[in-house]
Amino acid sequence: MTPLTRLHHSIFTEKNIQVWIKREELNHPVIQGNKLYKLQQNLSYAKQHKKSPLISFGGPFSNHIAALAAAGKEFQVPTIGFIRGDELKNHPEKWSHTLVTAEDNGMQLQFLDRQTYRQKDQANFQNQLKATYPNGYILPEGGTNVLAIQGFKPLTEELEQQINWDYLFCAVGTGGTLAGLIQNSQYQNKRQLIGIASLKGAKFLNQAVEQWLDTAKPLNDWQIELDFHGGGYGKTNHEIKACQNWFESEFKIQLDPVYNNKMVFAFMQMLQQGRVKQGAKVVLLHTGGLQGNPTSRL
Ligand SMILES: *Cc1c(COP(=O)(O)O)cnc(C)c1O
Repeated sequence: MTPLTRLHHSIFTEKNIQVWIKREELNHPVIQGNKLYKLQQNLSYAKQHKKSPLISFGGPFSNHIAALAAAGKEFQVPTIGFIRGDELKNHPEKWSHTLVTAEDNGMQLQFLDRQTYRQKDQANFQNQLKATYPNGYILPEGGTNVLAIQGFKPLTEELEQQINWDYLFCAVGTGGTLAGLIQNSQYQNKRQLIGIASLKGAKFLNQAVEQWLDTAKPLNDWQIELDFHGGGYGKTNHEIKACQNWFESEFKIQLDPVYNNKMVFAFMQMLQQGRVKQGAKVVLLHTGGLQGNPTSRL
């Protein structure tokens, strides 16, 4: 069980709220954060059906690729990562820490030019892939699928044992994690889940999340905040950086520079805007992403 750390600060006392951070960055050194939950059931399925290799897609800094490569090593299953950007192909000196580590963990890296990469989910590309690897197990970019979403059940149950929360904040990339939390968390009429989009212009995420939800059971209220992307995916701005620095030095908890920095920033902004109800118990979900930072800053 990962810790649920209480964050004490006068800002929170003044607003009459209580704040915790759920430390999923500590759940595994490399298969870290939300990616562990997204992979778990997929790995069991692949193992049970003797599927091999595990195949997926990602950019050079993809936490999903890092997690999949590490999982392949741990469970001794071959992995193949299709990486965006063929300019990296013959230039390992330009590889990110994520790619170097993925290859060290035994992942076979194949670089795709951007145009081909964009077509990776289309039938043509997928059929070709299935023909090449008839026994392979293909995971989409970011790892979001039905089993990934079901994989958040243990996390929501663990959190339920630790606290009866009113607000649950989490970072959003594909929306798989948010969908998993909405789908699996216990329903209470006062509860709210708030996802913070890391991407710019991510309105489509509302539908993307909705399509994963099974509305046969009552679901907690949820929303996705679209205005805290700080310039777009992988980008940031002065305000977000300042907030991250403040948070890290105040609480001695490191945030990743792509997702959790924006999640915390959004929470602090929404708090200042009076958008968090008095008396509320707030949980910030730390979704990890620190394995891409070779040198910890704290
Ligand atoms: C991948 C990732 C996310 C986004 O998860 P989705 O399920 O794609 O929305 C958030 N935080 C971290 C640290 C991640 O690596």
